[in-house]
Amino acid sequence: MSKLKYVEPAPIKDKSNPFESMMSRFNIAAEKLGLDDETYEVLKSPAKQVHVSLPITMDNGKKKVFEGYRVIHSNILGPSKGGVRFDPHVNIDEVKALAAWMTWKCAVVDIPYGGAKGGIKCNPRELSDGEKERLTRAYTLSLIDVFGKDKDIPAPDMGTSAKEMGWMMDEYSKTEGKTEAAMVTGKPLVLGGSLGRVEATGRGVMTTALKALEKISLTPTKASCVVQGFGNVGSHAALLLAERGVKVKAISDLSGAYWNDEGIDIQKAMKYTESNGRSLEGFSDGEKITNAELLSAKVDVLIPAAMEDAITIENAGSIQAQLIVEGANGPTSAEADTIIKDKGILVVPDILANAGGVTVSYFEWVQNRLGYKWELDRVQRRSERILGEAFDKVFNTMLAYGVSMRIAAYIVAIDKVAQTMKYRGGF
Ligand code: GLU
Repeated sequence: MSKLKYVEPAPIKDKSNPFESMMSRFNIAAEKLGLDDETYEVLKSPAKQVHVSLPITMDNGKKKVFEGYRVIHSNILGPSKGGVRFDPHVNIDEVKALAAWMTWKCAVVDIPYGGAKGGIKCNPRELSDGEKERLTRAYTLSLIDVFGKDKDIPAPDMGTSAKEMGWMMDEYSKTEGKTEAAMVTGKPLVLGGSLGRVEATGRGVMTTALKALEKISLTPTKASCVVQGFGNVGSHAALLLAERGVKVKAISDLSGAYWNDEGIDIQKAMKYTESNGRSLEGFSDGEKITNAELLSAKVDVLIPAAMEDAITIENAGSIQAQLIVEGANGPTSAEADTIIKDKGILVVPDILANAGGVTVSYFEWVQNRLGYKWELDRVQRRSERILGEAFDKVFNTMLAYGVSMRIAAYIVAIDKVAQTMKYRGGF
């Protein structure tokens, strides 16, 4: 056998099992809520887990097999919904956790979806467009019986974008013999994507951050923030917050962190990454600092918008921000929650803060089913209202139960799913 070119990435240090991390919060919320044992048992187990092998012809003519996953955590509230991630670290525990987070996320913002997540273990930066297309089509074909506009609806996530969603829609439509725009969201506009979907997650981070700033009596124009991760979520959140007067003092990506005390010019940084292979490497509008320095910077708001477990027991103690708004899914490990709570930091949890993406995905699905296109203003007004209402509900639940905003968000979500289960019956 020839030597494999693909090098297994080194495991991330200090990374706790994300599914356990999700479960430990779920357990606290379930107890506070007085959830009965039967419901607990149902909600803790994913409804379906699919593991596929995807043989692809690479550009060099050789075959390579990739591993793919789709986990449906729940379809109690409706068809399951959740992104597909292309990343070298994809594994079943991560996908299971992310699928469960989608259930709670959709329930928090009260949209009629269950939760799912998918992923392919690959490094999208090392794949050509042709290889990515073949991989996406193979993944779609192997999950043809799982996907469907009334069953399970994929969307973009880390390492994927509108382009992959277009390929999924095309492959699915060809196989089914009819155009099925509503089977996937986050599509290119010309294929039935929604206006406002690309920036929707970042916009939701901005909306919830502004609501939280109000709660801690900080005026946006007097507030400063740092953003970890400059992908789709981080860059749009940074841009929109900067437009509202928040001084974004640092941004970061895999190449490092960049600090400018006067505020980074986010538009310039976005243009820079666009023409620099989506990387901030070499960005000269800020002084280079480490990721650890960014996390512990003396600013008002910290926005982790990169990956799971960015904030752990190792670094939580050094955080100086008064507010954390979680743009990423699961950026804080369960153990770090206590440290952060003891420090009196307010955390707008992931399942609320980054729910703007799936909310506009829902609007895209609605538009596809209606065969009608909404104007941007309608998309933005409606998602702002949904996120605002969800924020207030979670904040009031936090006060009522005397818990963190994270546990309050789980309480709201679990309660909604449990109530739905009760009325659906059948167990
Ligand atoms: N991947 C995004 C998330 O984690 C969006 C999911 C969707 O729109 O279905 O929320």
